[in-house]
Amino acid sequence: MTERTLVLVKPDGVQRQLTGRILARFEERGLKIVGLKLVKVDRDLAERHYAVHKGKPFFEGLVAFITSSPLVAIALEGPSAIGMVRTMVGATKPTEAAPGTIRGDLAVEMGQNLIHASDGAETAVAELALWFRADELVDYEREIDRWVIGPKG
Ligand code: UDP
Ligand code: MG
Repeated sequence: MTERTLVLVKPDGVQRQLTGRILARFEERGLKIVGLKLVKVDRDLAERHYAVHKGKPFFEGLVAFITSSPLVAIALEGPSAIGMVRTMVGATKPTEAAPGTIRGDLAVEMGQNLIHASDGAETAVAELALWFRADELVDYEREIDRWVIGPKG
């Protein structure tokens, strides 16, 4: 099933000049970029994005980190995109992330693990609505999908 999911290249990824390489992994896989922007995150947006973690010991540090420098928000579309992107991102703790994953290849610390990705269907819908206005998510055809996805059924 075609799905849409939210990815954030967090401030460490932007500062380390890894945005292009991270984006390239998703493009190379065949996922379609349907939304893309650089965002300087305020506290309200940070708290809403990480609301599920409010009250946890790492919450304040997480909000401080995500608001410390711009991030890049990316909306991706493709077959089973939500789970596939989570698999490509790797485990939350980079020391436990498999080689070949973004965190497993490029990160070492949980607080600087480069990237966020929606963790399920409901989260993806809510997070896409939080980070993108409806008119910032773009529907378009790609010629290459004939080769990536196959003939339309
Ligand atoms: N995090 C942290 N310490 C923890 C747990 C999480 O710093 O003990 C940070 C980490 O950057 C992580 C984010 O909080 O990516 C959100 O945590 P979650 O468990 O949702 O991990 P994710 O979905 O990003 O893999
Ligand atoms: Mg999460």
